[in-house]
Amino acid sequence: MHLRAALPETYLAALQGLFGDRLHLGEAMRLQHGASESHFEAILPDAVVFARSTEEVVELVKLCGAHDIPLIPFGAGTSIEGNTTPVRGGVTLDLSEMDAILSINPGDLDCTVQAGVRREELNAALRHMGLFFPIDPGANATIGGMAATRASGTNAVRYGTMREAVLSLRVVTPDGRDIRTSRRARKSAAGYDLTRLMIGSEGTLGVITEITLRLQGIPEAISAAVCSFETLAGAVETVVQTIQLGVPIARVEILDDVQMRAVNRWSKLDYPELTTLFFEFHGTEGAVKEQAETVADLAAANGGGEFQWSNLPEERSKLWAARHQAYYAAVGLRKGAVGWPTDVCVPISRLAECIAETKMDLEAASIPAPILGHVGDGNFHVIFVLDPDSREEAAEAERLNRRLVERALAMDGTCTGEHGIGIGKQDWLVAELGGAVDTMRLIKQAIDPHNLFNPGKIFAS
Ligand SMILES: Cc1cc2nc3c(=O)[nH]c(=O)nc-3n(C[C@H](O)[C@H](O)[C@H](O)COP(=O)(O)OP(=O)(O)OC[C@H]3O[C@@H](n4cnc5c(N)ncnc54)[C@H](O)[C@@H]3O)c2cc1C
Repeated sequence: MHLRAALPETYLAALQGLFGDRLHLGEAMRLQHGASESHFEAILPDAVVFARSTEEVVELVKLCGAHDIPLIPFGAGTSIEGNTTPVRGGVTLDLSEMDAILSINPGDLDCTVQAGVRREELNAALRHMGLFFPIDPGANATIGGMAATRASGTNAVRYGTMREAVLSLRVVTPDGRDIRTSRRARKSAAGYDLTRLMIGSEGTLGVITEITLRLQGIPEAISAAVCSFETLAGAVETVVQTIQLGVPIARVEILDDVQMRAVNRWSKLDYPELTTLFFEFHGTEGAVKEQAETVADLAAANGGGEFQWSNLPEERSKLWAARHQAYYAAVGLRKGAVGWPTDVCVPISRLAECIAETKMDLEAASIPAPILGHVGDGNFHVIFVLDPDSREEAAEAERLNRRLVERALAMDGTCTGEHGIGIGKQDWLVAELGGAVDTMRLIKQAIDPHNLFNPGKIFAS
């Protein structure tokens, strides 16, 4: 754990004046904002502040600029590539108290929220209007953090990612400007697309303070299904064929045998410990039935076992609760272990090959490493479950991760489908995009010439 040097007195006094008791210098609060959900070493920020308005964010940005202090935006801290780790110290700006839902427009199927609103709270507020916000990364992340990481998750195969869900952003830029990137219109051809530039920028280009989101109507019928497979290849082939046939599936998740063992143990369930697909179908009663029957036929043809499906909400909740606990279930495979989750995404036609080769690597490994993923998008994760004190295990995970990413890149895939670059995937960004990374650096230098916004993320300097 790295502790950092103190901040200049004049800066601290100004910070105190701005935030009062919402300025925190104590170690526990700094540790909470310097640790990560993954294996990265904690680095403590020098201070943590909680903002309550865009105007406060503007003042903070100007103050940090005047004193050359790094500023790290922070939502719920659920990101897993060390995205919030304050590698150069500075002040962490926690936006979780900016949690107002500013407007909901059912007629336009959109809403505007402050950045600290969490996705579960938003969905609770939308439910009685028959609406929902579909992006579901499992963790109860903030909408600002999800926009900043271009998050997706289990529903993306049907509803897209944050790239599709965000209509407009209010952003404070490093020079202290308070800008809106777009209006509420469903589409626009007005100038550069600053909305998309900010989405996935991981706090390096601006602090997002408000987000206007597209919403979806809650479907008339929702059903869920589970099916186990004798072989990993049979499960993946079922998914590939489902997508290629154009079945508008809402969710399809793969959990391999190791992950199913972990889920059974963690959530006290008794699923067969075989590669398993979890599905969800949305639509009218008839459409849902038709989709489920089509997929059941494909599963049977690919060696699937019993196709258990249900439209009872409590059955669905049980199934998805188990899926959402999968990361903690995996880490729970070993007492005192730490998780190192990684994710890649490949074109769907290469998915079967990519997962099969990866599984061969993992079966030969000395550490548990379950596979799970949002396979409808060609996206899957491996979670290395490590002894935190073992250098050998860390080195092995690094080797396996390298092979995984190289394999995905060789298949014209990406080194991260949804977790972002943070500090964990910087070398792979260059391997993936080459000269385009120089163009990204030019954009960063133009917008943040003093490199104060979340420095050391996406690029090393
Ligand atoms: C168990 C588990 C499962 C997960 N599954 C998925 C998944 O399926 N799909 C997926 O996409 N992700 C997944 N994640 C990752 C995580 O939930 C996402 O990265 C999430 O989008 C981050 O949101 P946050 O509010 O926690 O942001 P933080 O972790 O606080 O911040 C993430 C990044 O965004 C920046 N940031 C935060 N708020 C703002 C803001 N207002 N303005 C500008 N920059 C900001 C930060 O500086 C940082 O770079 C999972 C995480 C866990 C722990």
